[in-house]
Amino acid sequence: MKIKKDKDKLIVPDELTIPYIKGDGVGAEITPVTQRIVDKSVARAYNGKRLIRWKEVLAGETAFKRTGSYLPDETIDVFREYYIGIKGPLTTPVGEGIRSLNVALRQTLDLYVCLRPVRWFKGIESPVRKPENVNMVIFRENTEDIYAGIEWQQGTPEAGKFLQFLTSEMGVSNIRFPETSSFGVKPVSKEGTERLVRAAIEYALAKKLPSVTLVHKGNIMKFTEGGFERWGYELAEREYADRVLSMSQCKKIMKEQGEDAALDVFVKAWSSGKMVIQDVIADAFLQNTLLKPESYSVIATLNLNGDYISDQLAAMVGGIGIAPGANINYSSGHAIFEATHGTAPDIAGRGIANPSSLLLSSVMMLEYIGWNEAAKLITSAMEQVFARGESTVDIACCTPNRKALGTAQFGDAIMNLIDAEEL
Ligand code: NAD
Repeated sequence: MKIKKDKDKLIVPDELTIPYIKGDGVGAEITPVTQRIVDKSVARAYNGKRLIRWKEVLAGETAFKRTGSYLPDETIDVFREYYIGIKGPLTTPVGEGIRSLNVALRQTLDLYVCLRPVRWFKGIESPVRKPENVNMVIFRENTEDIYAGIEWQQGTPEAGKFLQFLTSEMGVSNIRFPETSSFGVKPVSKEGTERLVRAAIEYALAKKLPSVTLVHKGNIMKFTEGGFERWGYELAEREYADRVLSMSQCKKIMKEQGEDAALDVFVKAWSSGKMVIQDVIADAFLQNTLLKPESYSVIATLNLNGDYISDQLAAMVGGIGIAPGANINYSSGHAIFEATHGTAPDIAGRGIANPSSLLLSSVMMLEYIGWNEAAKLITSAMEQVFARGESTVDIACCTPNRKALGTAQFGDAIMNLIDAEEL
C-alpha cells in the first residue's frame, strides 16, 4: 500500500510499499543487508502489525543494461507516486551531456533539502579530540547555486556569447583572461533560501535544538551568499519572532542602543528558552567545527558549501561509510533516503563494504514516516556493536583492537542485538 497525502500530512499505512534502487557497485552488497535489518526491526517493534514491502526500481548501470536509460521515467514516476524511497549508490556515467543521476533525481522531484545528520558512535576512531561533541544536522540547499548546471565551456560559441553580453551589455571589465575563460552562473533565490531555512528552523524547533546557524560566504559574494544570510534572518524574524532569537537583530540593537540593551534582549530570550539563529562565514565555520564543534547544532547552507561541510563533518565521525543522507521536499512530502558514498568500485564484490550509511539513512526514513520505535532499535543496536569494538574494515583499519567484520557479518551482529533488545 502507498502513502497518501491529506492536506499537509502524510498518511502512512501499516503495510507499506517502499520503492528502492539497489545501486551499482557495493549497492548489491549493502542494500539487501539494510533491508533485512529494517524488516527485522519493524517486525520486532510492531509484532507483525506493521510491514514493509520492498519494490525494486531501476537506475544506474543496471537500468542502462536493461532499458537503455540510466534513469528511466518509470523510476521517477514510482518515487513520485509512493512519496518516499531509498537508494544505493549510483555510478555517474562518464561522457559529455550526461549529468549526475543523483542531481537529476533531486532536481526532477524538486527535493530541495539535502539532510545530513552527523553524530559520533562511541568506539569509532576520530581525528578530533572530542568527537562526542560533534552532533550536527546539515540542511544543504539542493536545487540552486553553482550546482544548477548553468555553465559554458571555454572556446564554445555559448561562452563567447555570454562574454559578449557581460562586457558590452553589463559593463563587466574585470574578467582576468576573457578569451580563455569558462563561465558558470550561481542562482540563489529568496524563495529557495526561505524554504530551506524554514525547514531547518522547523526541524530544530520540533527537536528542541539550541540553534540554527546560517553558513555562507556573504563577505565575498554579497548578493548570492549574502542574500542567503539576509533572507534567512528576515524569514526567522518575520515567521518565528516569538520562538527565536536572531543574532542579526541583537547586533542591530547593539549598534543602535548600545551593549546593555543588546545584552538585555539576549538574556531575556535565553531565559525564555528561545532558539538562537546565528550566522558564520563558511571558512571560519570549517575551522570552528574542528576546534569547538559543540557550538553548532542545525546548519543551513547553500549547495556548494554544504557539499564540503558534509564531507568534513563525516570524516570527523568515521568517514563516508557511515554518513547517512536524505533528499526531501517538505512541502510535497517527497523524500529519497540514500547512501552518501559512491559505488566504491575498488572494494565492490568483496563483501567488505560498510552498510552503515544506507542503514542510518533507513533510520532517517523510519523516523520520517513516524516509525520511531523501529528506528530506535537499529540505532541502539549499532551503538552497541561499535562500542564493543566491531565494525567493517573501513573503520576497523584505523582503530587499534577492532574486529573487522564482513558486510553480512556486521548485519548479523546488528540483527542479533535487535532480537535481544528489551522492549
Ligand atoms: P566512493 O565513495 O565510491 O569511494 C571513495 C572511497 O571510499 C573508496 O576508497 C571506497 O572504497 C570507500 N568507500 C565508499 N563507500 C564505502 C563503504 N560503504 N564501505 C567501505 N568503504 C567505502 O567515491 P568514488 O570512488 O569517487 O566514486 C565511485 C563512483 O561512485 C563514481 O561513479 C561516482 O560518480 C559515484 N558516486 C556516487 C554517489 C552517489 O550515488 N550518491 C556519490 C559519490 C560518488
